[in-house]
Amino acid sequence: MSAQLSARVALVTGASQGIGRAVALALAADGVKLALAARQKDKLDALAAEIAAAGGEALPLAVDVTQDAELKAAVQQAQKHFGSLDILVNNAGITRDQLALRMKREDWDAVLATNLTAAFVAIQAVLPGMVRQRWGRIVNIASVVAESGNPGQANYVAAKAGLIGLTKSLALEVASRQITVNAVAPGYIATAMTANLGEKAGERLLEHIPLGRIGTAEEVAAAVRFLAGESASYITGQTLDVNGGLYLR
Ligand code: NDP
Repeated sequence: MSAQLSARVALVTGASQGIGRAVALALAADGVKLALAARQKDKLDALAAEIAAAGGEALPLAVDVTQDAELKAAVQQAQKHFGSLDILVNNAGITRDQLALRMKREDWDAVLATNLTAAFVAIQAVLPGMVRQRWGRIVNIASVVAESGNPGQANYVAAKAGLIGLTKSLALEVASRQITVNAVAPGYIATAMTANLGEKAGERLLEHIPLGRIGTAEEVAAAVRFLAGESASYITGQTLDVNGGLYLR
């Protein structure tokens, strides 16, 4: 176990599966105590048990991140339980794909609420504690499409591009308090979100990925683990691409 993160506490949203789950496990391996937030409490309970069995500590919290009161209460509960909250990983996300011309307003709103507004609400809730203690790490999970654009995903791309803008502005606002704010932009990663791509679309996609394969949740988690740690102390306002070379800025 690395000593560098051993005293820290992290809140990971969307920790019930996929990338969020892998992030929680990666941070736990560094000795970070975890507050696990998502709607599927049974999955969070199972993950918390897995972390505890490996000698770590995790608090499962049933939260719908689009409900401000639930999200704020989860932050407070985590702070009360562990005594502080040092790392926030805004990972919860959904897609509601459709061409912009046909997109329903409710699908625009749902994607913006989950992928962007919830991150802002969580940030506002954790910041006072981080400012007081003069240390904090915020990592926002964006997407390669925030940089490239993607037809059929105007809502998702707008939310993820917004998250990168939020990352930069916030980084400048809180740098003097030794709080860093960064984004990780995954390419195509094997999770439930990409499971329904279909064989043909999957094959077409692979042709555009220089590393020749879809990525894993663990490969994204490794980037988050780095940015959340002491060794990334001079990195802020950045977006770290984890995309197999799919898009080069
Ligand atoms: P999954 O669909 O596997 O996981 C999404 C997670 O978000 C789940 O844990 C889900 O938990 C949680 N979530 C969704 N809505 C809510 C909500 N209202 N309240 C609380 N939690 C919520 O997808 P991924 O692991 O792939 O996605 C994780 C992040 O990575 C997302 O932000 C996604 O946009 C991003 N990303 C993924 C890529 C990929 O290729 N897979 C590429 C680029 C970015 P629950 O259902 O239990 O609430």
